[in-house]
Amino acid sequence: MADKFDIVPLFKWANVTNGPFVIAGPCSAEGEEQVLETVQQIVKYASGKVHMLRAGIWKPRTRPNSFEGVGEIGLPWIKNAGLAVGLPVTVEVANPEHVEAALKAGIDVLWIGARTTVSPFNVQSIADALRGVDIPVLIKNPVNPDLELWVGAVERLYAVGINKLAVIHRGFSSYEKTVYRNPPMWEIPIELRRRYPEIPIIVDPSHIGGSRSLIDTLAQQGMDMGFEGLMIESHINPDKAWSDAKQQVTPQRLGEILNSLIIRQPKLNNDGFKTLHDLRAKVDRIDNYIIELLCERMGISEEIGELKKNQHLAIHQAERWSQIVKQALEKGKTGGLTEDFILKFFQQIHNESIFHQSKVMEK
Ligand code: PEP
Ligand code: MN
Repeated sequence: MADKFDIVPLFKWANVTNGPFVIAGPCSAEGEEQVLETVQQIVKYASGKVHMLRAGIWKPRTRPNSFEGVGEIGLPWIKNAGLAVGLPVTVEVANPEHVEAALKAGIDVLWIGARTTVSPFNVQSIADALRGVDIPVLIKNPVNPDLELWVGAVERLYAVGINKLAVIHRGFSSYEKTVYRNPPMWEIPIELRRRYPEIPIIVDPSHIGGSRSLIDTLAQQGMDMGFEGLMIESHINPDKAWSDAKQQVTPQRLGEILNSLIIRQPKLNNDGFKTLHDLRAKVDRIDNYIIELLCERMGISEEIGELKKNQHLAIHQAERWSQIVKQALEKGKTGGLTEDFILKFFQQIHNESIFHQSKVMEK
């Protein structure tokens, strides 16, 4: 397993000097005109802020009989549109045939979609088709929240000599209904960043949000995390798009979104340093204290476990648990904590507590 990927820095191959690396274009190529018109409008409204164009040629669809992409015929549409405005282009590839066709058409960058990253067989077959080819590859996270699978895909590409690499964070599927189409679970890309700071991260607010109204906030959040880029779907007539209609924005709206992004400095200048340092020290103290309290709490849970064992009581006492949650929700609310957070936090505490009690009971 790689400890570090020795990759070419993004700015060297993506031609971005400041601000985020932005990829924009329609979810799907639908026709030569639609692609060209979209690209021309993108350049008109987001001039200088978009560095690469995208269009899906082969579309992975959840259900059959939806629009599955125009296929190979669309490759020159996007390539020529890119040439017309002087920008490189990228398409999704899901198998060696796609790779071959895309390379033949002069596509500049390839991306691997979320439904492909889940399958090591497919990723490996793409990697094999790219052995010895010098082309940047962007790897979307797998549909399921599995960081190892994501890293595994990066390793497979790296192992065949691809050293211009970046990943795309497009959110993760979840059974729970949320406002997002694919909840961002920021902790996953953050952990990826912690482990492999050299891998550029591009955020895809379109597929995370699944809705036009969420794109600006999610894009800003991505920038606030210090990630390097954005991939945003843009269509000349979003409501009429053949795929992902709800989440695409017009090139004009794309321009507004990009122009209103606030790009903060990744590192502080000297003035800011002292206060940040002090505040971080406080946070560390509090976090330490939280851990100590949790250890103490679990110690008490074990004592309770002993008692329950002696009195032949069940571990889980539903009423007691409801009371704990109720108290915590009330208390948390007064301090401005969200219900969702309190609930999840206490569920985790409860799980851990049950684990400690069962250990005692099993003795
Ligand atoms: C896409 O980018 O249009 C796409 C299919 O994305 P994902 O693989 O993230 O679902
Ligand atoms: Mn899409």
